[in-house]
Amino acid sequence: MVDWKNPPRLFIPGPVKVNEDVLQQLARPTLGHRGKEYAQLHGETTDMLKKIFFTDQNVFLSTSSASGIWEAAIRNCVGLDETVLATCCGAFSDKWATVAKNCGRNVDELKVEWGKPILPEMIDEKLATGKYAAITLVYNETSTGLTNPVGQISEMMKEKYPDVLVLVDAVSAMVALPLRFDDLGWDVVFASVQKAFAIPPGFAVALVSNRALEKSKNIPGRGYYFNFELWAKSAEKSQTLVTPSIPHVMALNYQCEKLLKEGMGNVWQRHKQMGEFVRAWAKEKFALFCDEKYASNTLTAVKNTRGINVAETINAIQQKHDTIFGNGYGKLKEETFRIAHMGDITLDELRELLSWIDDELAKVAGTAEI
Ligand SMILES: *Cc1c(COP(=O)(O)O)cnc(C)c1O
Repeated sequence: MVDWKNPPRLFIPGPVKVNEDVLQQLARPTLGHRGKEYAQLHGETTDMLKKIFFTDQNVFLSTSSASGIWEAAIRNCVGLDETVLATCCGAFSDKWATVAKNCGRNVDELKVEWGKPILPEMIDEKLATGKYAAITLVYNETSTGLTNPVGQISEMMKEKYPDVLVLVDAVSAMVALPLRFDDLGWDVVFASVQKAFAIPPGFAVALVSNRALEKSKNIPGRGYYFNFELWAKSAEKSQTLVTPSIPHVMALNYQCEKLLKEGMGNVWQRHKQMGEFVRAWAKEKFALFCDEKYASNTLTAVKNTRGINVAETINAIQQKHDTIFGNGYGKLKEETFRIAHMGDITLDELRELLSWIDDELAKVAGTAEI
């Protein structure tokens, strides 16, 4: 029997471990969502998010997971007679392309093999046709542990295709990896909070450029719940369109305060350090699934070069240490395994987790070679 009331500590790439002090924020007394107290909480939180993402544009809070914003970005920013170029390099970017098709849009896919990055020249070649109104891009592909070269892609887009909207899924990147929204020239970027914000799931943050908001006003059939124009009207009053998950806003406010106190440069550096630490271990004991140049600083996908039984190893560590890490995603289930190093996870905790995996390896190998 498993005990959901006492779950293991999570080093899976989302949801990630949430610290006790953050959990306590979710237990505060609730507020009326049209009252002054909520407006204060909302305003403070979005002001901090503007600093965190270096933007003067629109910051929206959504009571949904990030997948809702996949749909929102498409429905608000891509007209029915327009075509979006969906760049696909893993399970999440692939899924976004499917979502865009499900929204009834014209979608062309630019696909690379899982574990390979999307490069600026690949996008350039497609956009040169003049066919596209927008592109979708995943900042950090959580299924393969890969960070796309989003800075280079943004430079190329700004220089050659300033009129094409750039829609970015930054679910496993936001706050952990550099994101200067206005400088990047992006139009929509979003994340759910159970990744690097280190908050329980059920809520998302979205940044929307002024031009995307203006464009959305002329796109029919945007619906209600995910309508950017309606979101913006509510945001002017430091409110949300519908009753938000207020406990999540409280936890978000708390986490933003901590991030700004630490300083975003330090936050990014801390994640880089964790990434380097786990990669060094992975290269010594196994191999990285993707080219190190593109390996993510928020999670590592380890290539299972020793043919260990991933499921059994995860199980054994859960039994002994009440902690789990991630298996490979989908078709990579046993071919890789994934270790999250984002949010409030620490280097010390990672050191401990890796030593436990080492213990399991030693047992399987039955030798001293490890
Ligand atoms: C986790 C994840 C998602 C899905 O987020 P939900 O909160 O489940 O909607 C989307 N994209 C990426 C890159 C992710 O890591």
